[in-house]
Amino acid sequence: MAPTVVVIGGGATGTGTARDLAMRGFDVTLLERGNLTHGTTGRTHGHLHSGGRYAVSDQESAIDCIEENRILRDIAPHCIEDTGGLFVQLEGDSDEYFQEKLDGCAECGIPTEVISGEEARRQEPYLTGETKRAIRVPDGALDPFRLAVANAADAIEHGARVETHAEVVDLLTDESDVTGVRFRRQGPNYRGEGSEGDVETIEADHVVSAAGAWAGQVAAMVDVDVVMAISKGAMVVTNVRQIDTVINRCLPKDEGDTIIPHETTVLLGANDEPVDDPDDYPEEQWEVNMMIDVASEMIPIIENARMIRAYWGVRPLYDPDPEGTEDTGDVTRNYFVLDHEERDDVSGFTSVVGGKLTTYREMAESVTDHLCDRFGVDAACRTHEEPLPGSRDPSILEEYMGRFDLRSPVAKRSVQRLGDRAPEVLGSEDPNPVVCECEAVTRAEIRDAIKDVGADLNTVRLRTRASMGNCQGGFCTHRLGAEVYHDHEAPTARDAIDELYQERWKGQRHTLWGRQLSQAMLNHMLHATTMNHDADPRLRGDTIDFTAFDAGRKTSTVTDEGSTNGD
Ligand SMILES: Cc1cc2nc3c(=O)[nH]c(=O)nc-3n(C[C@H](O)[C@H](O)[C@H](O)COP(=O)(O)OP(=O)(O)OC[C@H]3O[C@@H](n4cnc5c(N)ncnc54)[C@H](O)[C@@H]3O)c2cc1C
Repeated sequence: MAPTVVVIGGGATGTGTARDLAMRGFDVTLLERGNLTHGTTGRTHGHLHSGGRYAVSDQESAIDCIEENRILRDIAPHCIEDTGGLFVQLEGDSDEYFQEKLDGCAECGIPTEVISGEEARRQEPYLTGETKRAIRVPDGALDPFRLAVANAADAIEHGARVETHAEVVDLLTDESDVTGVRFRRQGPNYRGEGSEGDVETIEADHVVSAAGAWAGQVAAMVDVDVVMAISKGAMVVTNVRQIDTVINRCLPKDEGDTIIPHETTVLLGANDEPVDDPDDYPEEQWEVNMMIDVASEMIPIIENARMIRAYWGVRPLYDPDPEGTEDTGDVTRNYFVLDHEERDDVSGFTSVVGGKLTTYREMAESVTDHLCDRFGVDAACRTHEEPLPGSRDPSILEEYMGRFDLRSPVAKRSVQRLGDRAPEVLGSEDPNPVVCECEAVTRAEIRDAIKDVGADLNTVRLRTRASMGNCQGGFCTHRLGAEVYHDHEAPTARDAIDELYQERWKGQRHTLWGRQLSQAMLNHMLHATTMNHDADPRLRGDTIDFTAFDAGRKTSTVTDEGSTNGD
């Protein structure tokens, strides 16, 4: 009989691990306490690293990045935009470090090309006139949501069970052997099994913790110490796409100096601040301001851009030598498979920690190899050569667009998102109007996602990008709700609308100055007047945390801020 394994965590690492284990014949259940990508994977920069960023400071990670970068381009092209990347040197930046970066890339096998400041500005016209020269590297933009969903979908196709909104609350033990997990269901359950609040157990031959920054908490359930070096990073999102290439600053200290084009937006970030608790850390205005200031040094128009939201993530780093590391920025981005039998005398339990989104597949391969050794399974890894669902045949995109005369930008974006699932989703004769204008998402894609995940509009958002653009759901939230009504009762649809609206608001509240303040007010009025949700929140009996509202940011061009307290 196939060995049974429970994987804890539905981020890139967990979904990738479930896929690899299922492909090699294990009987797998993946449990995730939120929706897929609920943890760090849904809160990254989405940088498909070439490795250039680590080529001087952390060459082991740099080599992993370039190798995985090449593999992901093959197996997941519909999750990647091949933007290319530049490490730009501004006037006054160190020549010596520029050369070190070039040498480091050469040592790690990362292809580079040095271009002049003029050429860099021809490629990216909004780069500052202070650009002296730049190094071209094969960076890209990676969609973490599509990637995790594609891995989970393929795991399911290979026989795995994937449960979201299912929190592991304890590990079952028999003396010092882990024999399974106890988990509690919470909120809407995307596989539609069980009810909220149910506590269940699963017996398993082995438990893999891919719980990222929460790995320490999971290990503590069996008194095992996994001390994570967690650090937070803020990211800020602009309302339009000012650049088409990933722009990095070519400096040794690199907080906030990477700017990544993502679909219709650009992401600025990120800083690196140690935190103790992955669920409870301050989201501070100075961090938002710093991201904008650092990015504006390279792309000056960023300073005056409308910022539509800010968000934070926590890095699941693991430092094998905490005494020897002074700064969180210096903690290795490498990953570690912790065999708790060898390390802690607790059998049946392995953690996989550290790493990057870019290297998730290799992490999954390593932990699956480890389990194959343990259980004597003789099956080779195939995840580096088997394309993910949606990516099997990228040429389908052009072919399908031609067949249905889909030349509009809307159709093009739908087909790009769906990859080779396009015929199945878009092939219906039914009218297919646009539901989310900012991200060009049509009804067919929304209905397809609802069919899979139920009335959870927040997960529909992760699959389709609906509500992630310029208006942050102001104009489409209620239309998305209308699509839920087809298969669900009215109260469920209303709850789904409220949840999505609240989720969008969470990130906007850090960017309330100037034009984004007007947009947020407009969104509120639309929601309040069309959905009749304009009651005074105090009447709902909730406690209002007024300190959660940020003070806003003063910029030289915004003069209508009145009494907001800028920095
Ligand atoms: C600010 C920032 C920017 C980044 N940018 C990049 C980038 O551009 N490129 C890149 O390659 N990497 C980037 N990273 C790193 C990358 O995001 C992470 O290394 C990667 O996403 C981690 O994935 P994971 O699956 O290991 O962890 P996670 O995505 O956090 O997954 C762990 C999951 O476990 C779940 N979980 C925890 N406890 C339980 C429990 N008891 N029961 C059930 N489920 C549980 C959590 O909800 C979570 O979803 C960035 C990280 C940060 C913080």
